[in-house]
Amino acid sequence: MTAALSASGRGARVLVLEAANRVGRKILASGNGRCNLANLGPESYPGGGPFAQKILRQCPVSRVLDFFHGLGLVTVEEDGGRVYPGCGQAAAVLDVLRSAMERQKIEVLCDTPVKRVQQTKWGLRAEAGGKAFDASAVIAACGGMAGGKLGHDGGAYRLLTDLGHTLTPVKPALAPLMAEKSAVRGLSGLRLPAILTLCDQKGQPLGHPFQGEALFTDYGVSGVCAMELARRAGEEKEKTGAWPVLYMDFAPMLGLCPRYYGALDKADGDPNRHLKAMRVFLEERAHILPKDALLQGMVPRLLAERLKGRSIPELARSLAAFPVPLTGVRGFEYAQVTAGGVACGEFDPATLQSLLVPGLYAAGEMLDVDGACGGFNLQFAFASGIVAGEEAVRAALML
Ligand SMILES: Cc1cc2nc3c(=O)[nH]c(=O)nc-3n(C[C@H](O)[C@H](O)[C@H](O)COP(=O)(O)OP(=O)(O)OC[C@H]3O[C@@H](n4cnc5c(N)ncnc54)[C@H](O)[C@@H]3O)c2cc1C
Repeated sequence: MTAALSASGRGARVLVLEAANRVGRKILASGNGRCNLANLGPESYPGGGPFAQKILRQCPVSRVLDFFHGLGLVTVEEDGGRVYPGCGQAAAVLDVLRSAMERQKIEVLCDTPVKRVQQTKWGLRAEAGGKAFDASAVIAACGGMAGGKLGHDGGAYRLLTDLGHTLTPVKPALAPLMAEKSAVRGLSGLRLPAILTLCDQKGQPLGHPFQGEALFTDYGVSGVCAMELARRAGEEKEKTGAWPVLYMDFAPMLGLCPRYYGALDKADGDPNRHLKAMRVFLEERAHILPKDALLQGMVPRLLAERLKGRSIPELARSLAAFPVPLTGVRGFEYAQVTAGGVACGEFDPATLQSLLVPGLYAAGEMLDVDGACGGFNLQFAFASGIVAGEEAVRAALML
């Protein structure tokens, strides 16, 4: 939609071919219905970072927000630089895009999946809905496989691989973590502030920890901070053949962590970082409380049940580094974004034009770019759409 608007705003006649029965369904589901559409903080792209940065240099977050403000959207900034529509409704983001497309008389054909894109003597031809559409440029912005029915089944990548493009293997990212049943038994439904660190089988930290609200489920651990670790967990499994262990540090719940919900020191990955503080804390409680009431009023009952009977050193260890051996990452249906996609190196980062097929452009999650939680994925989709739209028109005018 941003690609269509930016191309149409520069005078192009634009047709949007949409496979679903309406455009922008994923926007409605995003940010728990609030749509976290951008992030004003430092860019965070675990996948395709250097390529994403080049696009975001041309179309930084300020330009994405100007674009939306120009369409009438009012936005607010929340913690961590996350940007949401001021009214708190994802529908507002989709409404302003759709209204602008109507005003600019952009034709939209829904229920019209593109089956093939071909090069012709004059440009490109997209085949959809039993018809052929000729154009000087085609912008492929079919998204990824994440989000179950909101994503595609992988078939959309073939539009570009059939033209010679490479697909970097795809896997779910920003997805809940699956764990050994015994590790989470009895805890399902608990939502706890925690610091989460992934460690290899030898206990060595794999990257920096994430802090936030972790949600125990019957299959494992969910919540934004857990989902942030899915990509890294999958990489470790690929590299070593073994899933890593998740260590949960409950110091924030006990007020032992001054940077509650704040940014963590990236270098600080020690899963036992609060062990000493935890022990002192418990010993102080042991002076005033009976042994069987030590955990009361301190941790939720489900967790207290799970930990009862343990000695103070054991309790301190369980609360500073609660081990959850992982068994997998939930699939695309439960993921928010796709890691992998159409290889970025085959597109000009200044224009998003294919280096293999003149007139072909790609934008958004379809490319091998995936961002962290916090608005980075939509921001990249919007920014790359704006760039692809304007560059497609510029190139067509130069012909
Ligand atoms: C539950 C959930 C919550 C999320 N929350 C956030 C959030 O708060 N902030 C954030 O930054 N990101 C969030 N994301 C990720 C974000 O929504 C996506 O990264 C973003 O929508 C990608 O935009 P896109 O335009 O590339 O693809 P999409 O939004 O997926 O749009 C692609 C469109 O192409 C259509 N299409 C597919 N194949 C074809 C075809 N062959 N022919 C024609 N049309 C086709 C699809 O139907 C779809 O309408 C969330 C994702 C999910 C699943």
